[in-house]
Amino acid sequence: PGSAAVLRAAHVGVRFGGITALDDVSVEVRPGEVCGLIGPNGAGKTTLFDVLSGIRRPDSGVVELGGADVSARGPVWRARHGMRRTFQRQQLFGRLTVLDNLIVAEEWRGGGGGIAADLLALPSRRRRERERRARAEEVLGLCGLAELRDVHAGTLPVGQARMVELARAVVDTPRVLLLDEPASGMSQTESGWLGEVVRRLVEHEHCAVLLVEHDVAFVMGLASRVVVLNLGTVLAEGTPAEVRANQAVRDAYLGGS
Ligand code: ATP
Repeated sequence: PGSAAVLRAAHVGVRFGGITALDDVSVEVRPGEVCGLIGPNGAGKTTLFDVLSGIRRPDSGVVELGGADVSARGPVWRARHGMRRTFQRQQLFGRLTVLDNLIVAEEWRGGGGGIAADLLALPSRRRRERERRARAEEVLGLCGLAELRDVHAGTLPVGQARMVELARAVVDTPRVLLLDEPASGMSQTESGWLGEVVRRLVEHEHCAVLLVEHDVAFVMGLASRVVVLNLGTVLAEGTPAEVRANQAVRDAYLGGS
């Protein structure tokens, strides 16, 4: 039952010298679902994100995107094929407006072909630019950011900047979105807003979301499925209620909470 996984890590292992960062880890995300990845410091969450996004090649196991083995593909290839990742560290263009940050996001995809090709492509390019702007405005609306459209990104408080980063990741209509600590630096009100927006995005765009987050309450409130990593292995997996009730998780991670 349910649709096929859009992104899947199967039996992934990563070692750093003598340290086993991931050992036989399998995780998958399906369209229209928010999957939360939690676990104590050093559990391997960031390493798994690096493997999924193509920044790090695993020592064993495979990564599949849309059912195809993409283990040998790098991050740019994966981005072009529907994967987006946000980072813990902020990466907006501070001198550009919020809207322009969404519009330029596509530029790095390049195209090339030189000046002659550019001239030939001019009419379709103009149309693409119009479509691009319309899409950026649509996403700002979806994210509740319409009023910040013309504000310079560098002047935004951290919580709003993180929302713009999310919007920028969404503007290319990704099939799967990897969110790295999206709620960090956010107030309670802002993380409530973030959760609401992620829910809306999943519904409206039908993308898949995998989210790493230290704020366990935030994850439990948002994710339909939670994977708990501990010491490089999957300790438990299930609905938030199942994970919360899991004795091994309580012992290793949640403690008395
Ligand atoms: P945190 O919540 O603190 O970000 P994490 O769950 O993201 O932790 P990772 O950063 O993936 O965990 O680290 C997993 C293990 O791999 C840890 O033992 C860490 O020390 C080790 N590790 C990660 N990156 C490297 C590296 N480049 N070189 C050596 N060891 C590393």
